[in-house]
Amino acid sequence: MTFDLIIRNATLTCMTGARPYGLLERGALGISEGRIVWLGPDQDFPVVSPACPAIDARGMVVTPGLVDCHSHVVHVGDGLLDFELKITGATREEVAAAGGGVGGLVARSRAASEEQLYGETVPRIKAMIASGITTLESKSGLGLDLASELQVMRVSRALGRDFPLDVQSTFLGAHGVAPEYRGRPDAYIDFLVERVLPAAVQQGLVDAVDGFCDTIGFSPAQMTRLFAAARSHGLPVKLHADQYSDAGAGQLVARFNGLSADHLEYASKATIGAMAEAGVVAGLLPGANWMLRETQMPPVHWMRELGVEMALATNNNPISSPLTMPTMVMNMGCVRFGLTAEEAVAAFTRVGARALGLAADRGTLEIGKLADLVLWDVAHPAELPYRIAHNPCHTTIKAGVVCYRAAPIQLQSLWETAGEGGFDNDAR
Ligand SMILES: [Zn+2]
Repeated sequence: MTFDLIIRNATLTCMTGARPYGLLERGALGISEGRIVWLGPDQDFPVVSPACPAIDARGMVVTPGLVDCHSHVVHVGDGLLDFELKITGATREEVAAAGGGVGGLVARSRAASEEQLYGETVPRIKAMIASGITTLESKSGLGLDLASELQVMRVSRALGRDFPLDVQSTFLGAHGVAPEYRGRPDAYIDFLVERVLPAAVQQGLVDAVDGFCDTIGFSPAQMTRLFAAARSHGLPVKLHADQYSDAGAGQLVARFNGLSADHLEYASKATIGAMAEAGVVAGLLPGANWMLRETQMPPVHWMRELGVEMALATNNNPISSPLTMPTMVMNMGCVRFGLTAEEAVAAFTRVGARALGLAADRGTLEIGKLADLVLWDVAHPAELPYRIAHNPCHTTIKAGVVCYRAAPIQLQSLWETAGEGGFDNDAR
């Protein structure tokens, strides 16, 4: 028997079956043509040629590659101005007047070249791969005109081609009303439905349609028109839902049998019930909840009670979630939202894949699925959410190919190179 790559002596975190985490200690995996073709106890592994590439995991945890189902990763500039003003108590209006907020983002996005947008996003993509992400969702919605919306989606496509991770491109033209349409949100929705979405579809740039539905976003009636257009193009829908108020936005996603309703801090029990009925995933985003100093937490207890599965995501964006580390998001999901450690790991694997409609070929360790894998330098998967801002990603494997390995830190050699300093007593 031969494989392209084998992994021996691993704590396989399969995320399947009834056992916690679907854990298989002292497990092994065989990979061929980018897929898992053998999985079971290490002692049962077939005899293979010594030339077969093998990784001895030395008991390390191996999970499915992480799926980050909500991000605004393709952007230029940062939210430093917003950050510094907001932590000293500035209001949204004061931040906007100083050139920050959404207005500043829109202006920067429109002024950016495609090369700049791509170039500034690359370090974040690399950080994500080095944190175990093998599938990433990337939204438009920062330029809000035809040219810049298409440009962001082209960059999302290019990043997916150039880097070892799958990038799902989401059209988020309905993130906010473009400045030209201020006070005329219905006319702006017409523009999205008649001009931008058809162009994005025609150019093969879009995998799903998203919007912002809340008291300060678009109304359910406006979103319904956009969703109907998405459906006419055969695209699934999702929504920034009920983040600031109970707008019933999650129910709208349920009506359209959408993929996920995200945020949900203020969602009602009726909304969670409708989502459960339609199988809509709750996309929980603790980064924004933290950064905005929100005190209302999403109703995780109703989600459990009524059977809505919970995904977690970085929600990487320059203003409310400058975050690229899933293990930190897992920690926040547990500490702030009350998820169990197992729910937090599932949220970035099995459920994250469902939130993107990709569960058929990823999100769990199973024969036949993509060999998207992460080796973590921990002995048990509960350690992933446990430490604060700790990234124990040891190796990331995309479709059977090792694409990232953490470099061992060799303090000794650094001391030798520097010639002086260090922590030894003699130097003090
Ligand atoms: Zn978002």
